[in-house]
Amino acid sequence: MDFNTADDNVMRRIRAMNQRVQGLKEADLYFYNLPVQEIKGGARVVVQGREMGMYASYSYLGLLGHPRINRAAKEAIDRFGSGTHGVRTLAGTLTIHQELEETIAAFKHAEAAITFSSGYATNLTVISTLMGRGDYVISDKLNHASIVDGCLMSGAEFRRFRHNDMEDLERRLQQVPPDAAKLVIADAVFSMDGDIIDLPRVVELCRKYNAWLMIDEAHSVGVLGETGRGIEEHFGMEDVIDIKMGTLSKTIPSVGGYVAGRKELINYLRHASRAYIFSAALPPAQAAAANEAFKVILDEPWRIQRLRENTEIFIKGLKSAGFDTMLTQTAIVPILCGSDERAFMMTRACHHRDIFVLPVVSPAVPEGLARLRATVTAAHEPEDIEHAIEVMIESGREIGLIS
Ligand SMILES: *Cc1c(COP(=O)(O)O)cnc(C)c1O
Repeated sequence: MDFNTADDNVMRRIRAMNQRVQGLKEADLYFYNLPVQEIKGGARVVVQGREMGMYASYSYLGLLGHPRINRAAKEAIDRFGSGTHGVRTLAGTLTIHQELEETIAAFKHAEAAITFSSGYATNLTVISTLMGRGDYVISDKLNHASIVDGCLMSGAEFRRFRHNDMEDLERRLQQVPPDAAKLVIADAVFSMDGDIIDLPRVVELCRKYNAWLMIDEAHSVGVLGETGRGIEEHFGMEDVIDIKMGTLSKTIPSVGGYVAGRKELINYLRHASRAYIFSAALPPAQAAAANEAFKVILDEPWRIQRLRENTEIFIKGLKSAGFDTMLTQTAIVPILCGSDERAFMMTRACHHRDIFVLPVVSPAVPEGLARLRATVTAAHEPEDIEHAIEVMIESGREIGLIS
C-alpha cells in the first residue's frame, strides 16, 4: 500500500525514522517495544523466551502483581464492570474514583485530589488549564516531555532554567514582569538522571517572586521520604507545593495521573480542565488497584527501606567499577555511555547476558550523553543486584566503556 501523497516533508520524516529503526534492527541494536511474556515477581521477566533480570522497571516498590492490589482490581471489575459510562462529569464518576481521590489527598497531606487517565494527560491539561496567554511558565531544562508539552499547549510565555540551578531560576523569575502570573514547574526526581530538585530553595524563590509551584512526583512517590510520601517528606517540609502532581503508573502499579492540592484548586480543575471533561474516566479496576496500592505502601514500610538499601548497593557497585552514574541519588541509575551507538552496544552486551536494561539516546537526552537508564526496585534481592553489576562490568569492559 502506498500513501496518497507524493514525496513531501511529512513523508521524508516518516521514511527517515523507519530507516533508522530498520538499520538498528539489522545490526541487532534495537531494543524498544520488546514484548514481555511474563513478569516474575517484579525482579525477573521473560522476553523472547529468555528469563532475564529486570532493570528497567518503574515498579520501584515491587508492587506490580501484589495480591492485595490484584484482588482489589478483580473485585472492582465484578462490581462495576470493565469500563465506565463515559466522562467523569456526566455518568462516569464511580464511588471508587472518589475513594481513590480521598486516599491520594490523605497520602499527600493535601485537602483534595483529582485524577486523570494518564500522567501525560494530567500535565498537559493541568498546566494548560491554569496558565494562558500573558502568563509565564518557568520550567527546569530536564523536565519530562509531558511538562514541556503542557507548557507549550498553554500558550503562556515559556522560559527554561538550567537544570536544578537556583541562581538561573532566580534570574528567570527576575525577568518576568512582577504582576504577571507565573508558574514554576519541575520534576521531583528527574526521570533520566535520578537526581532530586532543590525543593527548599525553589519554595523560597517562589515565595519571594510570588509564583505558583508545581512538582511532578512520577519518580518520587514511594521512593523519597521515610514513609514514601515523596519530596516534601524527604526535605521535612509540610505542604509547600501548590500543585502536587503524580502518576499512577510507576510505583503505583496502575495507570492514570493525579493532582493534589487545595480544595478550591481541585474544584476548579474538575470544572475547567479539558482532559477531565472530555475524556473517559479511569476504568474501575485501575482506580481500585491504585487506591489499594497507596494503602499497601503505608502498611508495608519495609519496601521503602529495601528500595533504599538496594539503590545504595547498585550505585556503589557501579561507581567503584568505574562507571559514571552522573548525579543520581535514587533508584533511577544512569550509566553514561556517550554516543548513541555505545549505549546500544552496552545494552546488547547486557541482554546477551540476560540482564534487561534499556538505552536512552538523543533526542531524549543531549547528544553525547546517551546512557543506559537502569532502575532497581524493592523486589530485587541483594544477590540479584550483585550479579547485575558483574554483568555490567563484563559488558562495559567488552565495549571499552571501563577498563
Ligand atoms: C512517566 C512520567 C509521566 C507520565 O506519566 P504516565 O502516567 O506514564 O502518562 C509524567 N512525568 C514524569 C516525570 C514521568 O516520568
